[in-house]
Amino acid sequence: MARYMWSPWHGCHRCSPGCKNCYVFYLDKIRDKDANIVSKTKTNFNLPLKKDRQGNFKIPSGASVATCFTSDFFLEEADAWRDEAWQIIKKRNDVYFLICTKRPERIMQCLPLDWGAGYENVILTVTCENQQMADKRMPIFLTIPAKRKFVFVAPILENVNLDSFLESGQIDEVSVGGESYDFARECNFDWVKNIYASCKKYNVDFDFHQTGSNFVFNGKRFKIKHHDEYSQAKKAMEYLKSSEKD
Ligand code: SF4
Repeated sequence: MARYMWSPWHGCHRCSPGCKNCYVFYLDKIRDKDANIVSKTKTNFNLPLKKDRQGNFKIPSGASVATCFTSDFFLEEADAWRDEAWQIIKKRNDVYFLICTKRPERIMQCLPLDWGAGYENVILTVTCENQQMADKRMPIFLTIPAKRKFVFVAPILENVNLDSFLESGQIDEVSVGGESYDFARECNFDWVKNIYASCKKYNVDFDFHQTGSNFVFNGKRFKIKHHDEYSQAKKAMEYLKSSEKD
């Protein structure tokens, strides 16, 4: 499935341990920008509705759209812009919008009036980077209606036990990732393996999407270049799955 990014607004505020080395702040600092300033995107606010010269949508039908990954979709400052974003999401019911948040306590008050049991094309996702955040956010997340729900354990900071939440049968996929860039905290593959085992136990899809820059595999620490994080995560999972067969 083709993957696209749509950032209707940009900027955020740190609100939890996973935010410490947030890549939005890291990259904005390099560009001499203040990531604490939240602003509506000028030219690409309506990106999903934009068409090319041939009249085709720039984001093709069937694509997956990572939505608001340089901010948080449920941030207070975006309250004035969100209804318009929901309308765009509704119009493009032929693509999937992956909306990820560290603020599940704001989701209910920010849903559109016709949300009902959820839009078919929206995957709501909550981030649980450690056990404390999982225990705080998951009970709230499980009360929210949605057609599909994912959990991101990213950047994974410790062993996180999701069993009591996965057994609800509400979670479609758990995706784990390590932290990137200069100050990245450790991502230990043993923690990843434990979540993978939980997912298998409760028949939940699992993905290890990136190793992070500071990856510990079988007790050995590896510094991973950012552009290799995704392929190395894939290799680690291939190794795990092949060792299961032995
Ligand atoms: S919520 Fe996400 S985008 Fe916002 S500061 Fe935290 S990690 Fe960064």
